[in-house]
Amino acid sequence: MKKMNEQTNKKERGISKYLAAILMFVIFETVAVTLWLSLDNLFYLLNFSYIGTCISIGLALFAAGWKHARRFVQFAVGSYMLVYLGIISNENMQIEGFWYYLFTGVFEAATIHYAVAKIFGPLIFGRGWCGYACWTAMILDLLPYKQPQKPRKKGIGVIRYFMFTLSFGLIAALFLYHVGNRERIMFWLFLGGNALYYLIGVILAFAFKDNRAFCKYICPITVFLKPMSYFALFRIHCDESKCVGCGKCLKACPMNVECNKESRKRANATECILCFECKKACPVKAIK
Ligand code: SF4
Ligand code: SF4
Ligand code: SF4
Repeated sequence: MKKMNEQTNKKERGISKYLAAILMFVIFETVAVTLWLSLDNLFYLLNFSYIGTCISIGLALFAAGWKHARRFVQFAVGSYMLVYLGIISNENMQIEGFWYYLFTGVFEAATIHYAVAKIFGPLIFGRGWCGYACWTAMILDLLPYKQPQKPRKKGIGVIRYFMFTLSFGLIAALFLYHVGNRERIMFWLFLGGNALYYLIGVILAFAFKDNRAFCKYICPITVFLKPMSYFALFRIHCDESKCVGCGKCLKACPMNVECNKESRKRANATECILCFECKKACPVKAIK
């Protein structure tokens, strides 16, 4: 009898570790079907089904212990968005694209992408976008400084607000001054903007010995991501009563989150990208 109970518990634990993968698949399929039916456009069904499937497979592989699972999702989703949506389909998926579609009053492409991944989605999955799908971080995460080698710089994070305002001002100017050929300009802005982001990202990573320096100080998208992810349903938890204060999680965290604390108000709480490096590093399983 005891053996049977143990086997049942084991089975339940086995299924529950795939819960996040299943839930993510359901959420993305719901978005995919809703947008497909309401906008009468098959693209949304295929697009969100593809992204949801990649994320779910990645989460399942992660739960099964495959160490490259997150990298798999980053490349599967990130390169699809950069190459297929951005370059081949001419959709500007950067923040400028979001402003552009807002100005044109069209709720599609970048507007929907931002609503799902960067504005309302973070209420559920926090900054999962930054950990699993962003095509900028997909490259930056390959650089040598996976764990920051220097303390976080104070004060320079305000650059993100400048970038945010600049991107808005740039697109507003296109409309205010009735600039022609805007679709073409948006395409070149997408290419140029991405090239610039990669260049700045790589320079900062080496200068600050921190792969994610660009995310911490420059990226304008964090102006949306940070406040929304404060309320995230999925977040990293720490059982402080188990913690032995070894500091291994703090060292492993690429985003300098105070992950040995449970409160939502912990230092850099809204920077968490759900990479689970802290969980892997904790010797007493205080983090989950
Ligand atoms: S902070 Fe910006 S660049 Fe970094 S992963 Fe998030 S969206 Fe990408
Ligand atoms: S190491 Fe932990 S706290 Fe830090 S970003 Fe990754 S999941 Fe979040
Ligand atoms: S790794 Fe675990 S035990 Fe060590 S400080 Fe972090 S939470 Fe505490």
